[in-house]
Amino acid sequence: MKKLKYILLLFTLINYGQGVKTFFESPEGKFFISADLHIHTVFSDGSVWPTIRVDEALRDSIDMISLTEHLEYQSHLRDIPHPDRNRSYQIAGGYVKNQPLAVVHGTEITKPMPPGHFNAIFINDANKFFDKEKKALEFNKAIKEANKQGAFVFWNHPHWEANRKDGIAKLDPIHKEIINKKLLHGIEVVNMFTFSEEALDIALENDLTILGTSDVHVLIDWDFNNERESYHRPLTFIISENRTMKSTSDALFKGDTFVWYHDLIIGKEENLKIVAENNFTATSEGYDYDFFNSAESILKVKLKNHSVAPLKLKYTGEYTFHTEFNYIEIAPRSELEIYVKTIDKLEKLVMPFEVLNYVIGSKKNLKINKNISIQ
Ligand SMILES: [Zn+2]
Ligand SMILES: [Zn+2]
Repeated sequence: MKKLKYILLLFTLINYGQGVKTFFESPEGKFFISADLHIHTVFSDGSVWPTIRVDEALRDSIDMISLTEHLEYQSHLRDIPHPDRNRSYQIAGGYVKNQPLAVVHGTEITKPMPPGHFNAIFINDANKFFDKEKKALEFNKAIKEANKQGAFVFWNHPHWEANRKDGIAKLDPIHKEIINKKLLHGIEVVNMFTFSEEALDIALENDLTILGTSDVHVLIDWDFNNERESYHRPLTFIISENRTMKSTSDALFKGDTFVWYHDLIIGKEENLKIVAENNFTATSEGYDYDFFNSAESILKVKLKNHSVAPLKLKYTGEYTFHTEFNYIEIAPRSELEIYVKTIDKLEKLVMPFEVLNYVIGSKKNLKINKNISIQ
């Protein structure tokens, strides 16, 4: 047993690779780990074999997935009887060897609302969520078992219409209790095709990690069209110090994440600032606007979007532009030249922007200043 623990510990310290695609540029010394931490296979109510989930994730250049089979619900039990609840993870984990993808062991604790559904990831044994009679543990015991295994526990789809007829995420006493006892660590603000501003506020007010997941049951392409980047599967990006399981799990517990959903980037203000600083640059091209060879104080500024998501910007500064309105959209991985009428010739310019598609709270978007030095 001791030996097994040692091997498990070693495993968490090994670097895992990176997919071929960079979604967002990260700062020096940080890694943005792309993750889909809520996925189903035939081992609960999904329609595909675990190896297909691995292949889909590799093709989508995702760094980390978790197959989170329902403990309480196995719709294919008649055809696939599988008393060992670790099988889905074992099959995917065995298949993924030597590939740039980390498969994290997880499960979905599936109870009626309240409390609802919860994912526990970084578990080491899903069978321990059952009692001697092979009955799934009741909620409090299951949450305690997850925490005993050192799992990161998050609340799934708190705004699901099947549980909340008005689609509004809210805390019941049982949720407040597990938050107060530090047994709950995160919350989905995005699940499949839905986004909850109320869940985002719950995350911010209760210091829960912000997550977005596909919760996919069918083939990923049937739910999300990979050809259109604006209709990709929802992903959580974990801002990690290293490409190790240990460092990634530490970052999850710390709440260092952001979510990419449609064209939206969703997260805590301090984290979205890091994303914006590294993926949106503004540089001076000098006072060389010379369409009629007579302009003196029209500054050419290059705005560049380094990321996979568009930048939807509203300039809120004092100047007007020569060719654009104050609403500017920069397509993924592209740039735009704008001409700022600065009246006087400046040596430096501060450009304040609201990033309309960077969401930092209910009805709140990120504001940033771009400092531009002019030669
Ligand atoms: Zn669920
Ligand atoms: Zn699920």
